Amino acid sequence: DPLTGKTVTLHDIDPSLVKITPNPNPGTPLPSEKLSFGKTFTDHMLVIPWTSTEGWAAPEIKPYGPLSLEPSSVVLHYANALFEGLKAYRSASGRITLFRPDMNMRRMNRTAERIALPTFDGQALTELIASLVRMDERWIPSEPGHSLYIRPTLIGTQNALGVGPSTSALLFVICSPVGPYYKGGFKPIALLATTKHVRAAPGGIGSYKLAANYAPGIIPQLEAAMEGYAQNLWLQGKEHFLTEVGTMNLFVVLRGEDGATELVTPPLDDVILPGVTRDSVLALARSHASTPITGLPPSKDFRVLERPISMPELVRASKESRLLEVFGAGTAAIVCPVDRIGYLGEDIHVPVGEKGMGPICEIMHREIVGRQTGVIPSDWAYVV
Ligand code: PMP
Repeated sequence: DPLTGKTVTLHDIDPSLVKITPNPNPGTPLPSEKLSFGKTFTDHMLVIPWTSTEGWAAPEIKPYGPLSLEPSSVVLHYANALFEGLKAYRSASGRITLFRPDMNMRRMNRTAERIALPTFDGQALTELIASLVRMDERWIPSEPGHSLYIRPTLIGTQNALGVGPSTSALLFVICSPVGPYYKGGFKPIALLATTKHVRAAPGGIGSYKLAANYAPGIIPQLEAAMEGYAQNLWLQGKEHFLTEVGTMNLFVVLRGEDGATELVTPPLDDVILPGVTRDSVLALARSHASTPITGLPPSKDFRVLERPISMPELVRASKESRLLEVFGAGTAAIVCPVDRIGYLGEDIHVPVGEKGMGPICEIMHREIVGRQTGVIPSDWAYVV
């Protein structure tokens, strides 16, 4: 402390201090066919307060319910808020796992730093999330494609109207049972490549999972829907570089000039969120060179590229019949095939075949779901 000269030790999150208050009125999970994304919540939530003088207080798992905030809380004025999204999966054998939670913890800490909210030991929070998931285990649907969506959130709670680092914060985690993104088979979606709005600006905050990045996407999404498109394809710069799809990362499959298959995704920079699914698709595709994946082209004819790709390049590839696939990648859908992209008043058609998705998209879906559900053993699965 620069004023008193005293050494202050701030506490990190400590799972051994957790206080557990079971819900006296447990709810009834909806039948799985009635689930819609993020509308019902489990019996419990995890809450961990923080202050700049003490650090992280004892965690508490308690009945899901309202938070108490004063109207002067900074989060309600300046959007000192960020979140994460991951899922718990129940395997055929009943084992419950999280998928690569270390990636979410790293991204959450990186985002917290960006807006002067406190960071924490990611392994400690993962252990507490595991305790919460175990407590609410009966809320995890067991049907294929179903899971428990987990939403860690961190907000600044200081009661003050000055814009500055919040001297108090609240980390909370809530859970919501979710059904499959696609009910009854894959359904490719149409995208509107928007030249009217941008999701994120160079030098800005698009690579952080800040709450402030999401509300401004709602109107562009509604505008796309009015024109008959499901999502926005977000572009960047006068070159119209492709960046992301709605709230997913983007992959394009091209036939290269030499006939090889190219899996292309834009490189991570300040307009792209570093997705866990994106990283998983890249890691799997790259592992093909040493551990072949059934169905992918021989590795000598298959390239994995993180490089900028623009709409003029996509249009040209389409005209030359070299545009093979476009898909989004994210926790909610895993992969999301695209069959049409509206751009400057015209539609680019992307082949999806009879299955509604191209072969690379389908293989990535199979490989990732296999690791999430334990069908394919993997150190990406974190046992709860
Ligand atoms: N981009 C944006 C803007 C997102 O909100 C998300 C969802 N977190 C993603 C990409 C995909 O990230 P992930 O694979 O970690 O879900």
